[in-house]
Amino acid sequence: RAKQLGGDNVQLYSEDMQDGSLERLRLERDLRQALQRSSLQVYYQPKLCLRLNRITQAEALVRWPHPQDGMISPGIFVPLAEETGLIWALGEQVLYESCCQIAAWCAQGLEIKVAVNISAHQLRNDKLVDLVQKILAETQAPPHLLELELTESCLMEDASATRDIMHRLRNLGITLAIDDFGTGYSSLGYLQRFPVDVLKIDRCFLQEITSDEQPGTLTRAIVALGHGLGLHVVGEGVETAAQIAFLRRLHCDFAQGYYISPPVPATEFVQVLQDWQQSRAQALAP
Ligand code: C2E
Ligand code: MG
Ligand code: MG
Ligand code: MG
Repeated sequence: RAKQLGGDNVQLYSEDMQDGSLERLRLERDLRQALQRSSLQVYYQPKLCLRLNRITQAEALVRWPHPQDGMISPGIFVPLAEETGLIWALGEQVLYESCCQIAAWCAQGLEIKVAVNISAHQLRNDKLVDLVQKILAETQAPPHLLELELTESCLMEDASATRDIMHRLRNLGITLAIDDFGTGYSSLGYLQRFPVDVLKIDRCFLQEITSDEQPGTLTRAIVALGHGLGLHVVGEGVETAAQIAFLRRLHCDFAQGYYISPPVPATEFVQVLQDWQQSRAQALAP
């Protein structure tokens, strides 16, 4: 490949570096194009309300069907979008798509609350409040059915500007969640300083729970902390019946993970919801 490109300067770089940066440029170009064509997709992963034993919420997770490379994971292209400034356009499309979906489900008589991931780059831009307001108005999605998931890293810098944006977002009638809780490096004090409604326990804490009798000390402590502050708590990355039973015993509010369902396209979501309700009904039948 290096030879094909020709030129002596190629020797300045190892072949790996050369390939790496070319690969990056290619992905950036393709992502730009995907955004122009609105070809990113949004999948929805159910969140189970443990009190009702019903799926009442979902998390919106972006997917990129790449023409040559197949489905690319957001773990790869979200950081790329953040570094190249494309995150704003990406975030806008996911938000718009999610709000359209909220409204579409409402029209079918389904009230599903949808949580959209927001990166620190988006939260730093005070146009975010206007954008959310505009999209809610355009799509007619009820604000109480929209949640934004922020990571702890969002709350570390420029505290007062961020707090202001968060208050203004909440004044629109939406709720705010802290994603991957427990993996950031910020002090716990921010939980009282920032307007937050929900804590999502990072899946690494649930991974230690392999049987129903395990202590799960950190998970227990995070649920107690969240409830003590009057927040709802979601357990992420639930893969086993033991983990869900454990969260139930702690009176954790929601569970999300492959055990309930992987993220699915909107067209499959209602089926997943009905299947869950049905298998529960059967389990409870005499
Ligand atoms: P996240 O927000 O913490 O989302 C949860 C991730 O865990 C998702 O990965 C989901 O598919 C995966 N997951 C769900 N249940 C399980 C389980 O039981 N076991 C395991 N091992 N994994 C599970 P995904 O979809 O690849 O997304 C990765 C990350 O990319 C997200 O982490 C989020 O930080 C980011 N992301 C996704 N969509 C967006 C978006 O629209 N905007 C922004 N800014 N970030 C996004
Ligand atoms: Mg999330
Ligand atoms: Mg998470
Ligand atoms: Mg994450």
